[in-house]
Order: sequence, then C-alpha cells, then structure tokens
Amino acid sequence: MIDTFRHKGLRKKLVDSIREKGITDKRVLMALEAVPRHFFMDSSFLEFAYQDKPFPIGSGQTISQPYTVAFQTQLLMVQPGLKVLEIGTGSGYQACVLAHLGAKVFSVERQRKLYLKTKAFLDEQGWKVKTFLGDGNLGLPTFAPFDRILITAAAPEIPQPLIDQLKPGGIIVLPLGGGDDQIMLRLIKNPDGTLTREQHGYFRFVPLLGDLGDD
Ligand code: SAH
Repeated sequence: MIDTFRHKGLRKKLVDSIREKGITDKRVLMALEAVPRHFFMDSSFLEFAYQDKPFPIGSGQTISQPYTVAFQTQLLMVQPGLKVLEIGTGSGYQACVLAHLGAKVFSVERQRKLYLKTKAFLDEQGWKVKTFLGDGNLGLPTFAPFDRILITAAAPEIPQPLIDQLKPGGIIVLPLGGGDDQIMLRLIKNPDGTLTREQHGYFRFVPLLGDLGDD
C-alpha cells in the first residue's frame, strides 16, 4: 500500500470539508489528515476513500463516514496515554485514528472474518491496537477500567457492563437507538457513579448485535 501525493491531497480536501461541517478540534483534524483511509478499504473502492461517505468493507459492514469518525472522536476528548475501548473494530480505521491521538486502544469485533482480516492488517502495518473477537456488549472485563469507551454501531440500549467498566470521570460515546436513526450520546461518569447525559444530534449506524457472528 502506498500513500501518494494525490492521496495526501485528497485527504487534505476531505479534512477541509469536515472542518467546514463544524469539527473544531485541531488534533482530531490532524489525525484524520495523517491516517490514510484508503489503506482500510478494498482496492476496488480506493477512489471512494476520500469522499465523506460510509463504505462497505465486507461481511455486511461499513467503514464509518469520515465526518462521523471525526465527530465521535471529538466528543470522546482523547488525551495521550488514555485507555480507550472501542466496540466494533470493523476496518480498524477509527481505532487507528484513536491510536494516532496517543490512546491505548482496545477494540472488539464480533464477526470472525472481519476480526481476522483487520487484525492481520493492523499487525502488518505496525499499528499498536489490541483487537479482540467477542461481543462488545460485554466489554473487556480483564482490561477494565477504561478512561473512554466508544461504540461505533447502533446500540438499542446502553450496555450496563460498559458503564461498569468506565472509570469515574470517564466518558462513553454511543449512537443510541434501534431504528433507522440514532441519537449520539455522550455520557460522563461522575465520581459518585451517576451519569451526566448529553445529546449530540442524529446519525445512522449499522446495528450493534448480540452474541458472536460467524459470517
Ligand atoms: N469502527 C469501524 C466501523 C464500525 S461498523 C471502522 O472504523 O471501520 C460497526 C462494526 O460493529 C461492524 O464491524 C460490526 O460487525 C460490529 N459489531 C456489531 N455488533 C457488535 C458487537 N456486539 N460486538 C462487537 N462488534 C460488533
């Protein structure tokens, strides 16, 4: 895989358009400019890598729209060294944006084929992201607690194990809703364990499913 000047130019334009859509966090914009999104897509779709659109990545799943990746990442307020749990590894793109920001990323995917493909790719590219095959609804109790948790699939409800695995002062960002559209939530865990809840508009994600997928 090579990252040509043309790719870099297209990525800069994409980041300009995301800034115009309202993303203000400079570190997030820089991370999107640095991570070559076309590496995370099948070669037949390369020309679509720098459009602000979601795209199929196999196994019926999609790589999220760049604006959505930027929006969720901005809400998460990642600092270097923080432990971040991502639910829904998919292509690995979002995980690498978080890793680029200096987070220690743990990412869970339920579809075996996608998990194996993405794990092999991330290892080959030298990304320091720890990937796991499993049901993200359960989190990763062995590695808990986390400073940040990001769900990148539509959650019909807030999974309680994830709230339990969040540190006091921690933040969880998730698209909530079982229908076509989901409301983007940011929940901040207060020192007494209660949650402060913010709503950040509507988005459309593939569903967060239960159990393991074997396709
Ligand atoms: N973050 C991804 C895009 C995610 S699409 C990227 O950057 O490319 C949502 C992903 O969540 C899909 O890969 C889907 O298989 C996965 N998923 C759905 N339900 C899940 C669950 N319960 N646990 C873990 N992953 C799940």
